Amino acid sequence: MADTLPKVAGKLTADAPLAPLVWFKSGGAADWLFEPRDLADLQGFLRDLDPALPVMALGLGSNMIVRDGGVPGVVVRLGKAFARVAKTADLTLDCGGGASGILVSSTARDNGIAGLEFLRSIPGTVGGFVRMNGGAYGGEVKDILIDCDVVLRSGALLTLTKDDLNYTYRHSELPEGAIVVAARFEGRPGEPETIQSEMDRISASREATQPLRSKTGGSTFENPAGHRAWELVDQAGCRGLTMGGAQVSEKHTNFLINTGTATSADIEALGNEVRRRVLEKSGVELEWEIQRVGRK
Ligand SMILES: Cc1cc2nc3c(=O)[nH]c(=O)nc-3n(C[C@H](O)[C@H](O)[C@H](O)COP(=O)(O)OP(=O)(O)OC[C@H]3O[C@@H](n4cnc5c(N)ncnc54)[C@H](O)[C@@H]3O)c2cc1C
Repeated sequence: MADTLPKVAGKLTADAPLAPLVWFKSGGAADWLFEPRDLADLQGFLRDLDPALPVMALGLGSNMIVRDGGVPGVVVRLGKAFARVAKTADLTLDCGGGASGILVSSTARDNGIAGLEFLRSIPGTVGGFVRMNGGAYGGEVKDILIDCDVVLRSGALLTLTKDDLNYTYRHSELPEGAIVVAARFEGRPGEPETIQSEMDRISASREATQPLRSKTGGSTFENPAGHRAWELVDQAGCRGLTMGGAQVSEKHTNFLINTGTATSADIEALGNEVRRRVLEKSGVELEWEIQRVGRK
């Protein structure tokens, strides 16, 4: 099968286990894992790849259940060449699609750019933030994004503005198979010390309320209009509920955790059981926020 894939300068691995690359530490392998050397490598590969093969981007896998049957086609993971962050104008940062929230927020601080502190607390990459409209503590990507560069499934490079992405809560209309390779974020003037204290405040609050040191996937369900998902889950008696090796976090009921031996099927089945109980108890249908990908 390797012969049928385009030649690359970066790393192309067949049957690549994804569990080590995602927060839940569960799930199957990618048919192919591609870590492009640079932008030209990514563009050339996608241009020459059989259009029938699906392509999916993977960041830090902090919002993802990879099903146990693995992911068909090609999973693209952006490495060092896409992890740079640089100031371009007074209050603007140009960020690679693979850069972490920690790097973006600390570069903003060093340059006296406020308003990006919330990215300190979201464990993901710029590509994942742009795709998911990541947000926390009153900020979200749609408030700071100017535009982003994406490589389409055809290999074409395109700049999309914030308006092109039609953002709603934790959702964008990024084209299917598109890979975000860079994004420009804009903040407002701020003092580095003040920005640092806001980042510290956010980190401490996170530590107190979320199971950050567990194998988890972030918020499991979207907050339904007029409700908070964690409260509905709690009211339905699901705090600590287990299924196989999966458990509803005792610390934050909108988080599922892998206690050590969970399969992705355990985690997904637990999520569905929680949805069933919440519907029965309060009549509200919870929608998954976590991306569930791959073959069952
Ligand atoms: C402990 C914990 C706390 C969290 N807290 C928050 C929070 O407060 N707020 C919040 O919004 N989220 C939170 N999350 C969820 C998660 O961190 C975000 O959704 C984040 O944006 C995911 O980024 P990622 O790069 O890891 O994406 P992944 O989880 O790898 O992927 C998520 C989606 O983004 C797509 N994607 C990833 N990279 C790219 C790319 N380069 N181009 C195109 N698409 C891409 C994937 O295909 C997938 O559809 C939390 C997660 C954890 C584990």
